[in-house]
Amino acid sequence: MGEVLNKVINQQVVLKDLLEFDVSVFMKREDQIHPFISGNKYRKLKYNILKADEQNKQSLLTFGGAFSNHISAVAFAGKEFEFHTIGIIRGDELGIDLDKTLEQNITLCLAHEHGMEFKFVSRSDYRFKHTPEFIEELKNEFGDFYLVPEGGTNELAVKGCEEILKPEDDIFDVICCAIGTGGTISGIINSAKANQKVLGFPALKGDFLHHEIKKYIVEGKNWNLINDYHFGGFGKVSAELITFINNFKDETGIPLDPIYTGKMMFGITDMIKKGTIKKGTKILAIHTGGLQGIDGMNSRLQKKNLELISK
Ligand SMILES: *Cc1c(COP(=O)(O)O)cnc(C)c1O
Repeated sequence: MGEVLNKVINQQVVLKDLLEFDVSVFMKREDQIHPFISGNKYRKLKYNILKADEQNKQSLLTFGGAFSNHISAVAFAGKEFEFHTIGIIRGDELGIDLDKTLEQNITLCLAHEHGMEFKFVSRSDYRFKHTPEFIEELKNEFGDFYLVPEGGTNELAVKGCEEILKPEDDIFDVICCAIGTGGTISGIINSAKANQKVLGFPALKGDFLHHEIKKYIVEGKNWNLINDYHFGGFGKVSAELITFINNFKDETGIPLDPIYTGKMMFGITDMIKKGTIKKGTKILAIHTGGLQGIDGMNSRLQKKNLELISK
């Protein structure tokens, strides 16, 4: 596991629109770690998998939505490290005709091919997924397992994400990271240097995130959440965002995902143009991956007759 995690590069991002602002932007290409166990999900699973092994568990069980990067990552990691995997998936309608679901959903299809067993639950039941009663029922149904929380965030996940920043990254003034549950940015905050500022870009409307992140981080670090670029909520996109993502890929060669990294890069670009990020700043944006989610988003965009994300 260590090998792939050490060959991540920082790639300079040059956008015509930003030339006049004299800000340097690099992306840490964690998306290149693995096509499906992308970026931060690999790092979040690393110490959890070691722990599951230590506890002699045979199975990993986790939760997620139908297009979840985390579900995809757990399925692939299970295959790679020889665990049976069980995915508790939101949406009981998806279980009615599994063949049809797998045909229409590449995330679940590939997870299935990698041996993941599914249980589809209604949206109302899904809300209770972390209660002891629900977990007990799952134990009765599936036997003993190692539980990975939704989105993969726990102490061990944060520990894995503390390995994202490397000594050569000390030259950056600002580190940027997209946020879902807050695990990844917590690791980054913990390993950032005293003179560095960490900016988080929530991919959802998340007033709870500040509190969540505080549970995992050491005191005295310089960090802030930028709440202006969630585009209406988790998984929500606009035509402007899709155009930005396609243009970004044309100009830089770097593909962005529409749920997390696209929103973050849109935000960084906007802040540079508005002068919120000052001249001379050296920015490192973490490319946390998520590219497996593009197909799912494109089928939604196609239904609405909107521009697709180019691949
Ligand atoms: C899951 C994910 C995130 C968010 O990570 P958290 O640790 O949940 O905040 C960011 N980017 C991508 C691509 C992801 O898949």
